[in-house]
Amino acid sequence: MRLTIKIGSNVLTRKDGSLDVTRMSALVDQIAWLRNEGHEVILVSSGAVASGRSELKHIQHDLDSVDQRQLFSAVGQAKLINRYFEMFREYGIPVGQVLTTKENFSDTEHRTNQENCMRVMLENNVLPIVNENDTVSVTELMFTDNDELSGLMARMTQSQALIILSNIDGIFTGDPADPSSRLIRTVEPGKPLDEYIQDKKSTAGRGGMQSKSNVATQTAAAGISVIIANGKRDDILVKLMNDRANTPCTEFLC
Ligand code: GLU
Repeated sequence: MRLTIKIGSNVLTRKDGSLDVTRMSALVDQIAWLRNEGHEVILVSSGAVASGRSELKHIQHDLDSVDQRQLFSAVGQAKLINRYFEMFREYGIPVGQVLTTKENFSDTEHRTNQENCMRVMLENNVLPIVNENDTVSVTELMFTDNDELSGLMARMTQSQALIILSNIDGIFTGDPADPSSRLIRTVEPGKPLDEYIQDKKSTAGRGGMQSKSNVATQTAAAGISVIIANGKRDDILVKLMNDRANTPCTEFLC
């Protein structure tokens, strides 16, 4: 299978904002395992801004939000890709950095160039590690977030599945912190999520789930199954492949 895997910033960062190298290394181990099992992987990794912010603690944080994003991502992306490069190298897996912008998915020559870049990397067995080019992609030019980017990338690369790793198990019927909330295991094709979410009052507790579910719905409608799962759970990728029925996640069927 060709898989697009998105790892969110909150999976890769510790509570104090520093890069969680142990978690990162565990996910690299699992992606190496997936490749060994014969799967092709496109990795969409966030974490640049967060790791830049923790690297530049001495910087006055009174910069405006655009300056912060540009500065922290410039430093953080270098740190992030360097770590990935070294970790995958241990497995003999060559990686390449793809920094992209929304324009590269619109109907222009940029799109053709982006498609070609992905094709040549995959054909040559190079693992693409994709992030938004946060240094130049600011304000209205931005993707909503990397969930949107990962959905577009899964479609562009004709992946069979998109796995979105976040710091919660999937989409719940209410606030995940509320014990009466239930994890939604599967979402049938074309069925609006409102039919599954019973507790309408607690939408605020679902955090970034709205954007994830929008991306998941659109991506599944394009014929790519989508799984939202918790990247902080040990061996999550292996469990999703080997024992999905007993692994907490939300799967959007297509
Ligand atoms: N591209 C941003 C980063 O790497 C993250 C965007 C997102 O969280 O979705 O820091």
